[in-house]
Amino acid sequence: MTEIFQGNFTQQEPIPEEGIEAAIAVMRSGRLHRYNLGPGEVGEVGLLEQEFAASVGAKYALAVASGGYAMGAALRAVGIGPGDKVLTNAFTLAPVPGAIAAVGATPVFVGVTENLTIDLADLEAKAGLARVLMLSHMRGHLADMDRLMAICDAAGVLVIEDCAHTMGAAWRGIPSGRQGVVGCYSMQTYKHINAGEGGFLVTDDDAIAARAIMLSGSYMLYGRHGTPPPEAAFDEVKYTTPNVSGRMDNLRAAILRPQLRNLDAQRDKWNARYRVVEEGLSGTPGLCLTTRPPEETFVGSSIQFLLLDWPSARISEVLARCLKRGVELKWFGGAEPAGFTSRYDSWRYAPSEAMPATDRVLKGIVDMRLPLTFSLEDCAQIARIIRAEVGAVYQAQ
Ligand SMILES: *Cc1c(COP(=O)(O)O)cnc(C)c1O
Repeated sequence: MTEIFQGNFTQQEPIPEEGIEAAIAVMRSGRLHRYNLGPGEVGEVGLLEQEFAASVGAKYALAVASGGYAMGAALRAVGIGPGDKVLTNAFTLAPVPGAIAAVGATPVFVGVTENLTIDLADLEAKAGLARVLMLSHMRGHLADMDRLMAICDAAGVLVIEDCAHTMGAAWRGIPSGRQGVVGCYSMQTYKHINAGEGGFLVTDDDAIAARAIMLSGSYMLYGRHGTPPPEAAFDEVKYTTPNVSGRMDNLRAAILRPQLRNLDAQRDKWNARYRVVEEGLSGTPGLCLTTRPPEETFVGSSIQFLLLDWPSARISEVLARCLKRGVELKWFGGAEPAGFTSRYDSWRYAPSEAMPATDRVLKGIVDMRLPLTFSLEDCAQIARIIRAEVGAVYQAQ
């Protein structure tokens, strides 16, 4: 009998009871706006900022409305605007080039390796073209961050890290988001902590923190932030920074605080699931898994494999066969953007040149979420199904 997987790839865990209780308390108070505080009260958003800054060892954390908002604010806060170029990954998701284009700048795409990290040789070759790299740790794969930072430092390129898939991850023990001048995170439902929507920006830089706070829509209430930079950092900035409202509210912060405390335990659960799928797929003929470097602490909330150099029709066939058996795979090689997957050449607002080596990799990337609602046995079953269907199509080739 052929087994069929019954789980749901977009079903996340419920919000912890503690978060639900805290959210109810906020609603009962009526004080949902982050600046609506009683005397001496820090509020849920301010506390969340303090706790997140402490968890990654940053001086400043700013909680905002989304990950995309955090990236846009980071770009503006480091002085990127119309006419500027920004280096970024060719393999990422639409909010990344979108954030660059939305401030009037132009993305310069850098290629991807077979290990799904940014191609450092390509980065080195293009480093002179821009002042900023918006580095997307796409699907949680960390590049060699020592070499990446050396390349960028030598070329005078500032690094902004998109950590939408690396909250809770680290490189040689340094939390993801802490090697660049700014780190950005997302708390959207499909990321590592879930408030529906939300984002963080972290930095150690007084001026960048002050500008980001003013941008987020702080009016003149910046003193009520969880981790405000010194008053002097606002002297000039408060008159010259436009307000682009994108604040976090107390309700979502209340939901997030218990989840943040639990993040390390969640990472272990994700990685246990990741390892079961990885183990189940390893050695499948025609299928390549990525290797995870020992310096990397990752969060296995999704897994990718490559069907490298397979004809498109065969890859489509694998996806269709897996879907029939309840296993939902995403493919980055499709001719048209679908769901969350799109490619640098789908973003027609951003000019791009053909990148043959990158196209070869993108064409073979198959991607799968691993929600924590899946058990380890679910993961073993999913791997068996993929292995069987990849095997059947591969043999017929
Ligand atoms: C989700 C995501 C973001 C941020 O997205 P929001 O939906 O705006 O929170 C940024 N980069 C990548 C790669 C993402 O997947």
